[in-house]
Parts: sequence; C-alpha cells; structure tokens
Amino acid sequence: MPKHVETVFLDRDGVLNEKMPEGRYVTSWEEFKPLPGVAQAIGSLNRMGIRVIVVSNQRGVALGRMTNAGVEAIHARFQDLLRASGAHIDAFYFCPHDKEGCDCRKPKPGLFLQAIRDFPEIQTETSIFIGDSLSDIEAGRNFGMATVLILGNAEGRRPEWEEARKLADASFASLPEAVELLVP
Ligand SMILES: [Mg+2]
Ligand SMILES: [Zn+2]
Repeated sequence: MPKHVETVFLDRDGVLNEKMPEGRYVTSWEEFKPLPGVAQAIGSLNRMGIRVIVVSNQRGVALGRMTNAGVEAIHARFQDLLRASGAHIDAFYFCPHDKEGCDCRKPKPGLFLQAIRDFPEIQTETSIFIGDSLSDIEAGRNFGMATVLILGNAEGRRPEWEEARKLADASFASLPEAVELLVP
C-alpha cells in the first residue's frame, strides 16, 4: 500500500451504492441506493487532498436497459447529494459496452487511460484501486496499483470472489472502513 496516496480509484456498484442482484442494473436514481457512510468517507479523502475518481462497468447500456445520458444523470444526482455533505467526486468514467469488443470494460485499461488523459499528474505508485469484484482487482493490478477489495454482503458474491480476495493487497468490509484504516 502506498504511504502517500494521491488518487483513489473507486468502483461504483457495491462500493458506493448497493449492488443490484446479478443480471440487474441500476437504471434510475430511484434504484441508486448509496451505502452508509460513503459521503463522509469521500469527504475525508477530499479534505486530505486525495483525488477521487469513479471507474465503473455499466453493461446495462449495451443491453438497452439504460442510456449513457441516464447513467450520467445518476452520477449528477449523486454528485449533488455528495456536495450537500461537503464531499465530491473529481470525475466519473464508465464503460457502456458489452463484454467483448471494447478497450474500456474493466479489467481492460481504457477507463484508466481516460482518467490519465484528463489528469496527467496521476501516478500509479501513489494510487489505490478500491472495488468489490475480481475485475476491479485485476484492473488495478494491470495498472500497477495497490488494490483493495470491499467485502460487502456474502450473498452478492460471485464465484470468483475468493480469487479476488487472494489477489487484493487488502480487504475491508466497506469503503468507510477502508478509508479510515488506509488514510488515517
Ligand atoms: Mg462493483
Ligand atoms: Zn467499454
């Protein structure tokens, strides 16, 4: 884990908001249920001067369950909610594509490349990737970042979860716990 953290990459579903059951997607603000303490955790990162970037796979767009504009509208509402608590996310990036045929669906690197284009000062040695699935941990590792697995609810775990836990540099019950212990 880096001693000095400058950027935290966050997965969205299962880290910031409740994960939908397998095969379902968050298609509207009404379905976006922020997890307890996430606004405070992000606010803590903001006050420490740490850049907070969300990188998220949103395959439901490719499947026609929602649109790019719909995903962006959810992110805008979430940002409003965070700002009301004195917190903010510096940028959101998402992959709207299906499983094959793009370069941005995690664990592929496209979302990180977009972030690095917008924030050229990002360095992987001072970045942490926090996610709740194997694709997140692989994505972070592919980019040479320290990785943190959020454990979440046992019932939402996919079969490959055990592998994610082995590969991750650390694991915590929730984002607030990870922030409290990693960047005190
Ligand atoms: Mg997730
Ligand atoms: Zn993509």
